[in-house]
Amino acid sequence: MVFTETMTSKERVLNALAGKPVDRPPVSNPTNVAALDLMDFVDAPFPEANRDPELNARLAATGFTELGFDSIAPYFTIIQESSALGCEMQWEQKDNWPTVRMYRPIWKGIDDIKIPPGFLNHKDNRAITDSIRILKQEFKNEAAIIGKTMGPWTLAYHVFGVEQFLLMSIDDPNLTIRCLHELKEISVLFGQAQIDAGVDALTFPDHATGDLVSGAYYEKFLLEIHQEMVERLKVPLILHICGNTLDRMDYIAQNNMAMFHFDSRNDPQKSMDVVDGRIGLVGNINNPVTLYSKEPEDVRAEVYRCMDAGVNMIAPECAIPLATKIENLLEIPKSVRDWMEEHKDDEIVKRYTEPRPFASL
Ligand SMILES: [Zn+2]
Repeated sequence: MVFTETMTSKERVLNALAGKPVDRPPVSNPTNVAALDLMDFVDAPFPEANRDPELNARLAATGFTELGFDSIAPYFTIIQESSALGCEMQWEQKDNWPTVRMYRPIWKGIDDIKIPPGFLNHKDNRAITDSIRILKQEFKNEAAIIGKTMGPWTLAYHVFGVEQFLLMSIDDPNLTIRCLHELKEISVLFGQAQIDAGVDALTFPDHATGDLVSGAYYEKFLLEIHQEMVERLKVPLILHICGNTLDRMDYIAQNNMAMFHFDSRNDPQKSMDVVDGRIGLVGNINNPVTLYSKEPEDVRAEVYRCMDAGVNMIAPECAIPLATKIENLLEIPKSVRDWMEEHKDDEIVKRYTEPRPFASL
């Protein structure tokens, strides 16, 4: 008998997010898989594909139609809301990520935090919500559509500047917490707009990364806010934090979100042991080295390492480098199927085909 698929991509992703049984783990990208070759293939290049809903939807769809991933992620950057808030933008060219000019922050303190009228109708927010409507229409129940709304920590970097905000967190933790509570309303507003447009899940990037802040920061500043987001945004949420996060994964596992999108700097088995079924894990194929510069066989080895550890959804660790080789991306779903075929008679496969232990069903 050979391994056969019995679910649609959308069912597979939604089941995995809910801790329910799947035929195989989904290949699902909480962050985007836009690559230069795909931009050429559908004639939807950066930066335009970030600002025009038609181009955005066309490029996003290739993750499902060309790469064979189980989800579609139309929000490619991390700066759409910040542009709508009035941050100064550098939109770059086809081969580079757009960024916020962080050396010229727009706000200095808590009194400056104001959501501009027409925020949701700003071109750069509409590019995402209108793209979601197009994708929903086109793919209906075939693929899971995963939106993305920036958490307050990431927004704070953009509007206050990274250094200024980190200094504030040291000088005046209470003021910092009050700022985060004000900024979280932006996360809710844009997240809800995407839910209304039809997303099946939301990625929630909130870059309290190991390079910049300690694990204790996560508990002190973000855990409660993240729990509140689960109450207010009624689709499965996927937290995304890059870098080393093992020291905060125990706290992250208590945030009630569906999954945590984790970085390749964290060992899959160690990470699974720390979260212990309290939250799902999605990741963590290395981008800058493996997907960008190595061969399909190296990609395969990392997929197998994740599945041997029971990682719940398989994905690149973060938004892929734009020049990533397509053959390396195609190797991810291929390897997932081959692992299932090789292990179909083993006990180990039940970690996928039976409900997730400890998961709230
Ligand atoms: Zn990241």
